[in-house]
Amino acid sequence: MTIPVYVQGAWFLGAALFIFGLKGMSSPASARKGIIIAGYGMLVAIAATFLIPGLQNIALMALALALGGSAAWISGKKVKMTDMPQMVAIYNGMGGGAAAAIAAIEFAKGDAHSLATTVLAVIGALIGAVSFTGSCVAWAKLQGVLKKAHRLPAQNAVNIVLALIAIGLGGAMVVMAPAQPELIFGFFAVALVLGLIVTLPIGGADMPVVISLFNAFTGLAVGFEGYVLGNPALIIAGIVVGAAGTLLTQLTQLMAKAMNRPISNILFTPMVASGPGEAISGSMKELSALDAAAMMRYASKVIIVPGYGMAVAHAQHKVWEMTSILEEAGVEVKFAIHPVAGRMPGHMNVLLAEAGVPYDKIFDLEEINGEFGQADVALIIGANDVVNPSARTDKTSPIYGMPILNADMAQNVIVIKRGKGTGYSGVENALFYTDNCRMLYGDAQPMAGEIIQHLKAMG
Ligand code: NDP
Repeated sequence: MTIPVYVQGAWFLGAALFIFGLKGMSSPASARKGIIIAGYGMLVAIAATFLIPGLQNIALMALALALGGSAAWISGKKVKMTDMPQMVAIYNGMGGGAAAAIAAIEFAKGDAHSLATTVLAVIGALIGAVSFTGSCVAWAKLQGVLKKAHRLPAQNAVNIVLALIAIGLGGAMVVMAPAQPELIFGFFAVALVLGLIVTLPIGGADMPVVISLFNAFTGLAVGFEGYVLGNPALIIAGIVVGAAGTLLTQLTQLMAKAMNRPISNILFTPMVASGPGEAISGSMKELSALDAAAMMRYASKVIIVPGYGMAVAHAQHKVWEMTSILEEAGVEVKFAIHPVAGRMPGHMNVLLAEAGVPYDKIFDLEEINGEFGQADVALIIGANDVVNPSARTDKTSPIYGMPILNADMAQNVIVIKRGKGTGYSGVENALFYTDNCRMLYGDAQPMAGEIIQHLKAMG
């Protein structure tokens, strides 16, 4: 099918809009605009496709667009900020699945392709199929539908054997092109199972790392299939997603570093302690919301450390309201963000920005760690592992070596959490037992609300 020049031009325009969109997404301030620009790019690319002369199945295409578009519109409108990781996972899976489906149709048609094109189609299909089922598992785990990690007895050996079979079948498809339907079916079945088997044993909290990797894969798969179809918009979209995926992969490496766990360890080994752990002395001491309010109201400097608990409690708006009251009273307030606080990198930054916290009040670990010593109060809201000082000293701890926020070095530490539950790593937090630490037990949102009431009463 020859593609008219005006359609090619429109695809090129769409691709250019993707790139401008991605540029916008590089900063939180312009991210929203970037997403809208990229959305227009997609609209242009799709609309232009309908202008190809002699196009068949227009009604089916329109139906698919209406179904997919409305599902995306409704889920996009309804999704909560805390559910973003699973949304990313499922959208990513759809991209991989679409790339694999394009390849499947090309193979089924049995049209003659050059060797290079067939190789790219097979690689794209393999990566896309693995990303599809893997991302579906990631979604199910993050959504809480799949609660347990399922490990096979010789898990890593099974992974390797399945991967080798998939590569072997893919190789056969290249050599025997056009391949028999049984071979095509067998190849896709093994690739889809591989995605499932690789992802099932990985714990829910490690899923952001997995999603970042699948994202990079999906970009590659889409780019390869774009080449197979000779569609420049798809090639560039693939390159853009692949580039974003590469950035995410770098981020993944940063995350892994921030957790002091190699990526291979996250993907192939469950998180467990290697010994009984250091003995913790002291006891947890409670304080009231009134005492917490007074401590902060009469402090000169307060550093707030938000964590996963703040996200699940949706407490960010109350926390910002509390911050504003403290600032009006002349207290200097800063936010300290650990690179893996919450359940995905940037989780806390996005939540705080959504609540209206200005970027210049939000500091990364390296920027703020030296300031805890001068803080009168470190207020920890639903964070645990990221402030656990055993990460510095306890060699048997699963979080040993993870850089932590030096909240324990503040004059006073206040911790808001619901009870004595541990954090994601499952280890006790020595900080909670220290002399300068006080616990304010309760859900982060009502607790922040109570502190606000007391602060207001203090004038
Ligand atoms: P943690 O999971 O360590 O701790 C969260 C704390 O919040 C818990 O101790 C919990 O205590 C408390 N909490 C839960 N719900 C509420 C609520 N409604 N109100 C108040 N408190 C609540 O979170 P952090 O942010 O400190 O650490 C992140 C962890 O996640 C790290 O271990 C990090 O390595 C991991 N991580 C992993 C990633 C990955 O890809 N593998 C990515 C990012 C982070 P309680 O139950 O008593 O309330």
